[in-house]
Amino acid sequence: MQFSTARLPEDTSLVNSVAVIGAGVAGIQAALDLANHEILVHLIEREPSIGGHMAQLDKTFPTNDCAMCILSPKMAEVARHPMIQLHTCSSVEKIEGEVGDFTLTIRKKPRFIDESLCNGCGDCVQICPVEVYNRFDAGIGVRKAIYKPQPQSVPDLVIKDQEHCIECGLCYDVCARDAVLKEQKETEIQVHVASVIVAVGYTIFDACRKSQFGYLRFPDVITSLELERMLNASGPTGGEVRRLSSGSTPQSVVFIQCVGSRDISVDRPYCSCVCCMAAIKNAMLIKEKYPEAEVTICYQDIRAYGKGYEEYYRRAEQMGIRFLKGMPGGVEQDASGVTLQVENTETREVLTLHPELVVLSAGIDPAPDLPKIAESLGIPLEKTGFARAANDAMAPVTTIKPGIYIAGTVAAPRDIPDTVIMGEAAAMKAFRDVLAAEAKEL
Ligand SMILES: Cc1cc2nc3c(=O)[nH]c(=O)nc-3n(C[C@H](O)[C@H](O)[C@H](O)COP(=O)(O)OP(=O)(O)OC[C@H]3O[C@@H](n4cnc5c(N)ncnc54)[C@H](O)[C@@H]3O)c2cc1C
Repeated sequence: MQFSTARLPEDTSLVNSVAVIGAGVAGIQAALDLANHEILVHLIEREPSIGGHMAQLDKTFPTNDCAMCILSPKMAEVARHPMIQLHTCSSVEKIEGEVGDFTLTIRKKPRFIDESLCNGCGDCVQICPVEVYNRFDAGIGVRKAIYKPQPQSVPDLVIKDQEHCIECGLCYDVCARDAVLKEQKETEIQVHVASVIVAVGYTIFDACRKSQFGYLRFPDVITSLELERMLNASGPTGGEVRRLSSGSTPQSVVFIQCVGSRDISVDRPYCSCVCCMAAIKNAMLIKEKYPEAEVTICYQDIRAYGKGYEEYYRRAEQMGIRFLKGMPGGVEQDASGVTLQVENTETREVLTLHPELVVLSAGIDPAPDLPKIAESLGIPLEKTGFARAANDAMAPVTTIKPGIYIAGTVAAPRDIPDTVIMGEAAAMKAFRDVLAAEAKEL
């Protein structure tokens, strides 16, 4: 496809462009759809790499496609697209104006790297002696103080974490391009756009709030996102499932569903939509890898609502995964390991289980920055904290504010296919605003 150079990315005075806030799969899809229609997109991502939660996943239900195999080509397309101006480590500080003519103030945090010089070779990462907790690995892996945010980062640049850097000087010495910086300041720019798509996604429910399950107290109690990172071949355990207490492979695994979902005691009355399928997926992956392992899913109801999902669930049953209808009251630990009691509500039998690993299917919470963003945009939130659409049935990506659209899990928990559909729909709406703004200018 040929791209016109009519709207050069450097020309931030143009309103014939769109801002997309958040570069998970929703924001990436929206940005690519717009850019492929020759609309200039400012894609604004808080983190040093784009990709969002999908980049952390191992496989995707219900096809068990490798998540990065389907996401990374889109990420790479974003990086090289002439109509996408990518702002990483960035957030929107201020939004003014109205549909057709919004002004956004974008603040970029320092990377302590000269982005025009770094080629992502990773020599500095190799030599860095400092290891710290890695958020991308959901806490079960470590990274260096100078690091690549994820194995297939876009943009392919490192970032220096000043908080943990000990200024040993090795990274400055090893960098052949002198790209590592001792000092760098925050910067601010303004961009003018016709409309804004908000795609800031979700965060995982803090499983510590259900303290009875022992998360962060018992090493062999982990969350589903941590399990995703373990199962991932490029993750901290190289794709092996490990007990954090001993490093051994667990012979029995119990999933506890609805941790922070459908639970009024923690103010989470809603269903997180993806946890049943994610648990089934990960249970299947464990069973495929370790056929002798006993895998049990303790659940309230199995919600297999999407295309191919019910068949996927049935396949898991055929693989020997045990579905136990009942919710454990808590998890205990003694010298022999973890124990949990659960009533099978179908048979009224009370069972005591001694799994070697417990996986908490932690629910989906609204993105932490959403209240601030919503306030600056003038869009309302639901009681649940997710962004409110103008009409959930008939206008799910439209907000009450003309020119402001929502896409993906920012609006409610949902799976990747529905997220992608919303990204496409929001792009279409934003495209119409650009056409209207262009028509006005003529
Ligand atoms: C354990 C688990 C397993 C899953 N497995 C599957 C699966 O197999 N199949 C499936 O279909 N779905 C699965 N899902 C659901 C899937 O993760 C989501 O549907 C999808 O990732 C949502 O994408 P998103 O773009 O809406 O949000 P996100 O992926 O959360 O992306 C939002 C982006 O916005 C950025 N951002 C946040 N705040 C700001 C800000 N203030 N400024 C700028 N940027 C910001 C974030 O850094 C992030 O990059 C799973 C979910 C979980 C928890």
